[in-house]
Amino acid sequence: MLSRRNLIRNLSAIPFIGGLLNFKKMTDFQSIGEGYPRDFFKELGVRTFINAAGTYTALTSSLMTEEVKNAYLYASTQFVNLNELHDRIGERLAQLLRCEAAMVTSGAASAITLGTAGVLTGLDAAKIDKIPGDLSGMKSEVIIQKSHRVGYDHAIRNTGIKLIEVETLPQFEKAISEKTAMFWFLNYANPVGQIKDKDFVALGKKYGIPTFNDCAADVPPVENLWKYTDMGFDLVAFSGGKGLQGPQSAGLLLGRKDLILAARANAVPNGNTIGRGMKVNKEEMLSLLVAVENYLNKDFETEWKMWEDQINHIHDVVSSVPGVKTEIHIPEIANHVPSIRLYLDVQKLKHSPDSLRIALRNGHPSIETVGGSDSLDMTTWMLNPGEERIVARRIKEILLT
Ligand SMILES: *Cc1c(COP(=O)(O)O)cnc(C)c1O
Repeated sequence: MLSRRNLIRNLSAIPFIGGLLNFKKMTDFQSIGEGYPRDFFKELGVRTFINAAGTYTALTSSLMTEEVKNAYLYASTQFVNLNELHDRIGERLAQLLRCEAAMVTSGAASAITLGTAGVLTGLDAAKIDKIPGDLSGMKSEVIIQKSHRVGYDHAIRNTGIKLIEVETLPQFEKAISEKTAMFWFLNYANPVGQIKDKDFVALGKKYGIPTFNDCAADVPPVENLWKYTDMGFDLVAFSGGKGLQGPQSAGLLLGRKDLILAARANAVPNGNTIGRGMKVNKEEMLSLLVAVENYLNKDFETEWKMWEDQINHIHDVVSSVPGVKTEIHIPEIANHVPSIRLYLDVQKLKHSPDSLRIALRNGHPSIETVGGSDSLDMTTWMLNPGEERIVARRIKEILLT
């Protein structure tokens, strides 16, 4: 016998096949996964959850919007020449994002590898072939402020270059030599590094060395998409699958035309390149363009107000539990969205932030949050409307039982 759920699924299989572009609108959290002919995650036994954490790679970051999914499916229906699509999408992105040139990469990490590779090799086929094992005839060092070292800087080292760490301006200038290929900057570390963004760009200009700014998680605000190329950074990277809500494995490399062309020379569809394993398919390329278009047309005020209302709701509900202290905050640069931290009085409550996090994960519905042993951290950025009520209620239930 068909359950109601199966019946709905079977009925919806007909329009699904007939009109691939008619995805069910998924604003209602209860409809997620429904309207599709098969519940694949369920079949696989893979847990799905409410994402109160944010755009974390391991948690699959963000969900693509309807328009983005439609573009993805559209692209899957016809053949094109990949280089031609790269050219046209690059031109369109550069226009939209007010920079000289742009390319879609396989995530911000690949933008960093390909951008660095382009700086090293230019369009020289022999050099493109030689990296990362043999950097002879090329510059081989990238200067980075110690406070800007990050878990993603492997993406720079993938090209075979050596990172030179500095702290002060005199150390920085002393480290510059004929081996220096590039200066690398981590945008969210701007407040903690001794050399700030504008001065960093000025150093690049003074010594004639390209500057790279990793802005992967730095939208919102939208204007960051052109702020740093405007400021004079030669290359800037963004994730396509975080705030932009494009495909998770896509990213943007923006900046100087000659450097983008050199990065392209190191990328797919060119074989025998460092970027050959960082393929971006036509579906990802087109749907990231559409994600950018969508993002630029967003009603940011309304969206922000919704996130704030959701945070305030969680705050109001959970702070009514004795022993819970909350703090609402907005990170200054990366993940710049309303966020909330819960501090738990372990004398009064049976839970620590860690055990609460696990209880939320193991509950029904499963809810993912972040934070450390001191606090349980959340954002409403990736919540569907209404999910904040479930999150607040579950926290309260778990803490009071
Ligand atoms: C997420 C992130 C990256 C990697 O971005 P992907 O798009 O996942 O490749 C690089 N740098 C920083 C600072 C990030 O937050």
